[in-house]
Amino acid sequence: MKYQKPKGTADILPTQSAAWQYVEGVARKLFNQYRYHEIRTPMFENYEVFSRTSGETSDIVTKEMYDFNDKGGRHITLRPEGTAGVVRAFIENKLYGPEVQKPLKVYYMGPMFRYERPQSGRLREFHQIGVEAFGVDSPDLDVEVMAMAVDFLHRLGLSGLRIALNTLGDVESRKAYRQALIDFLTPYEAELSDDSKERLHKNPLRVLDSKDEHDQEIVKDAPSILDYLTPAAQEHFDQVKRLLDELGIEYEVDPNMVRGLDYYNHTIFEIMSNAQAFGGKWMTVCAGGRYNGLVEQLGGPETPGIGFGIGVERLLLILEAEQGNLPTDDQLDVYVVGIGAETDAATLRVVQALRQQGISADRDYLARKPKGQFKTASRLNARYTLTIGQQELANQTANLKEMATGTERQVSLADVEQHFNELLK
Ligand code: ATP
Ligand code: MG
Repeated sequence: MKYQKPKGTADILPTQSAAWQYVEGVARKLFNQYRYHEIRTPMFENYEVFSRTSGETSDIVTKEMYDFNDKGGRHITLRPEGTAGVVRAFIENKLYGPEVQKPLKVYYMGPMFRYERPQSGRLREFHQIGVEAFGVDSPDLDVEVMAMAVDFLHRLGLSGLRIALNTLGDVESRKAYRQALIDFLTPYEAELSDDSKERLHKNPLRVLDSKDEHDQEIVKDAPSILDYLTPAAQEHFDQVKRLLDELGIEYEVDPNMVRGLDYYNHTIFEIMSNAQAFGGKWMTVCAGGRYNGLVEQLGGPETPGIGFGIGVERLLLILEAEQGNLPTDDQLDVYVVGIGAETDAATLRVVQALRQQGISADRDYLARKPKGQFKTASRLNARYTLTIGQQELANQTANLKEMATGTERQVSLADVEQHFNELLK
């Protein structure tokens, strides 16, 4: 019996994890500068946390949830996205009190689970880096959140990104638009896909998000949400566009974009790349928007919110296609070469002493000849080698070689750590 990973999952191997850590490191640094703090919520939640928020007719709830009854009969779901769990935690931990500074800004990174048909950039276990900001309804915040996403992608060196922007208006705008959509779609009802037929009356906006090609043809001429905005919703949207212009962030308004989750209103956006990794097709790496009302939906006080999620696998596909090997700080400072079994204890002591000083150090464990050890040192891209042979052992010294220049000198074993502390400063 040969075991294989479950369909739609991936092993992130030691050769690949440096790229992940690089991306996560850039994110953590950026979020710190924007004053977002990390929140870690459980990987699974009660089913209702997602069914109440993502929307009964969304793909996520109808088809993609990993849910099961646990041994205590609780209906559990592996989280398909980050926002609902963060909102649940926000309410449960009363992060809305008067003593909490607004907006409350948090970020998260970790695995999400969706039962999907796996393909490039689409897995059943995938990872998101996301942010949420609670308690402020101002369009300034919408723009700052978008600008932060753009800043992140730029810091990673991505260019040629397309930003699609839309508004879903407020409750009143949505109500008027919903009716207009039903009126428009009803004559085509028989032609619609089964999913869309069902959604037509339950949640007609969902039809706009259909992946079915014929649905997409029909929807092309559908009325636009932009014609149904209340004055307040219009003003919010106009201000978002003005401020994006102010920051020099280019975007395209896409009135047919609705997003896959039901909880959005006002500003929604996606950032796309057409990197070669996706065969020239536009692929969304970052998606987000405003979700005023979501906190109330889960039983909390009326609190506006906005956030985005970035798909890390898709991001890495783009980065690798555009930049090849990503920068890493996986540098080996010193490779310690021991010649002869008698030097074993000395090499062990030196390697340990170096590591305790915060210097990265490695050695041979297979009693290999010096030639093999030097080969390994250069394969590992060591900055220095430190060689201990019989002669050195007798004198309590070691031969220090700088790999880039070939410069060699003798150093005393007693103060070898201080020596490297100086060299590597
Ligand atoms: P799509 O339309 O591609 O299915 P979505 O609307 O379901 O995307 P969101 O729920 O908005 O996606 O998730 C935000 C981001 O997470 C996406 O833009 C994408 O980068 C990533 N993502 C979503 N689902 C997957 C998946 N199954 N595998 C890998 N990444 C994913
Ligand atoms: Mg999806």
